[in-house]
Amino acid sequence: MTRTVKWLSSILNTGKWATVLAIATAYSLQKDAFLRTLARTVRWADLDKPRAFRNRDKESRVNLWKLPVHLYDRALFDAVDTMRRWILAAIDQAHIEGKLFRAFEGPQRRYAFWLLRKFVRIGAALRGEAPEPKFEISLAQRQAVVRLLRRLLRKALGKSPRVHLRRSFELDNTLYRFFTHRGKPYLSIASLVPGQRTVIPLKGFPVPAVTGNVRVVLDPRKHAVAVHVPVPVRVKTLPDRREPVVVGLDAGVTEVFADSRGNFYGEGFGLVLDRLSARTTAQGAERNRLHAAEKKLAAASQAGERQKAGRIRRFNLGRVKLDARRARGQAEVKRRISEALREVLRFRPDVLVMEDLSRMRGRTKSRNLSRVVSRWMRSSLKERAEFLSQAGGSRLETVNAAYTSQECPKCGYVHRDNRQGDRFHCRDCHFTGHADTVGAVNVERRHTDPELRERIQVFTPKEVVLKSLREIFERKRALST
Ligand SMILES: [Zn+2]
Repeated sequence: MTRTVKWLSSILNTGKWATVLAIATAYSLQKDAFLRTLARTVRWADLDKPRAFRNRDKESRVNLWKLPVHLYDRALFDAVDTMRRWILAAIDQAHIEGKLFRAFEGPQRRYAFWLLRKFVRIGAALRGEAPEPKFEISLAQRQAVVRLLRRLLRKALGKSPRVHLRRSFELDNTLYRFFTHRGKPYLSIASLVPGQRTVIPLKGFPVPAVTGNVRVVLDPRKHAVAVHVPVPVRVKTLPDRREPVVVGLDAGVTEVFADSRGNFYGEGFGLVLDRLSARTTAQGAERNRLHAAEKKLAAASQAGERQKAGRIRRFNLGRVKLDARRARGQAEVKRRISEALREVLRFRPDVLVMEDLSRMRGRTKSRNLSRVVSRWMRSSLKERAEFLSQAGGSRLETVNAAYTSQECPKCGYVHRDNRQGDRFHCRDCHFTGHADTVGAVNVERRHTDPELRERIQVFTPKEVVLKSLREIFERKRALST
């Protein structure tokens, strides 16, 4: 596995800047041409098999912008990648898997997930076709699944992606070379002129030992570039154990998490989130205020006033400054999340169990977070948890967390009154504990308890979760009396 490190260049002279700008422009035009082709759903088989797409394209290639062959290929693969990410993000954000899971059962449910497994099938569904799988299912049943999937996808997808800013390009390892000269680091890249390379002076050391694709991102404000380099991450190996170590985590209200052993990580996190949330909301309001002021000044009779309007416009309605402030806030949140996760991983657990973060709704509702921050925080948490647990050699498992805050970990009794703020007090067996710790224990049980694991899956609807928990509780009670 790899992580991305950004290498900054020094300010480029006019000639070098013109060269990288020309590459970025040609590359972006080519990538955009591929994106337009791939926007047609009949081409989505190409998203499943990009190599076949490349080989077919090679035979009828019209290299309009005269890109070197490898750069042309990169633009193709880059476009495929952008399309795939666009489709997968839409499916994820619109909770399409969960909706299909809840809408269908048996072979229809199986069919729905079979469709989602390949882009070519997703494309077919978008055209209203119902491709035939290898397992038994009638045409009418297939069509019913396709109707719902098509409706959900159309709503979720919106406009297909295009390249709007021509300011980045990808290079494979035939197109670049890092080297040092008189103690200084450089990156040499192929230009659009065959056989001619351009050398970019870099800041920072040491020059990375890179073999993968790198992305060059232009900064027109500074006439400099950032080189995004994949750096290998050493994955830790865990000791051999007879019993796997399992740790459940619960996203807390004031801290980043509580774990199932009674520990708390990243206390004070709630305050950081509240600040970021307030800032994000204020940022919208501030921009509206500036926009109104700019309009008023632009219509003024005095030249001085109109100049002021021009300045507001030039500074993008204050966006640069506000974006920088928000970026600092976001960096702080990410740092706290990473710190908390690293601390958890010090136990070197075999399995880390968390709730399905794309569905973490209830808890963030209880906080006064702006929707933007809440969604962003969840995706950061998900991304960091996936990355850090993998690097630490642990396996990340996600579970359905419905009612984990109201369920007694000892007797299984579920009631909303079991939780009062930070305290958990079972109304049935009088077990007490910290509410977030109880939540984490229950999250862990959803993975380790065979019956809970069988009956409560990630997409199981809340009502069914509650029914199952009550049935299990009643049955255990009947057995014990
Ligand atoms: Zn109880």
